[in-house]
Amino acid sequence: METTTIKEILIKKGVKPSLHRMKVLEYLMDKKNHPTVDRIYRDISPDIPTLSKTTVYNTLKTFHENSVVQVLTIEENEVRYDADISAHAHFKCNVCGMVYDVEANYSSLPERMVMGHRINETQVFFFGTCKNCLK
Ligand SMILES: [Zn+2]
Ligand SMILES: [Zn+2]
Repeated sequence: METTTIKEILIKKGVKPSLHRMKVLEYLMDKKNHPTVDRIYRDISPDIPTLSKTTVYNTLKTFHENSVVQVLTIEENEVRYDADISAHAHFKCNVCGMVYDVEANYSSLPERMVMGHRINETQVFFFGTCKNCLK
């Protein structure tokens, strides 16, 4: 993904595009692997020696507050991040631990209102064995 595009996305969301922030968003958009803070830090810190795990954590917090990412808490001890903020479900493989995007249709929920409640966030998870582990 082009650096200029990453920068534009951050500016549009009202987030100052620092080098660290651009690198974290680039990683999320390229990998689409729904990583944890640890995973992101492990994968990109070799390229950016000035990066700390706290910076990655704070960056993701800022991203979440500004709707750049959605936060997935599939298991309570594991927080994952997704740069795709559209409504979609997730499938977690019980064998390899990979989290995949799954298409889901929420259009039957009119105006994001259900029985008079207003939905701010939707998290739908499926568990099973992924197609790669089934082979
Ligand atoms: Zn699997
Ligand atoms: Zn996703």
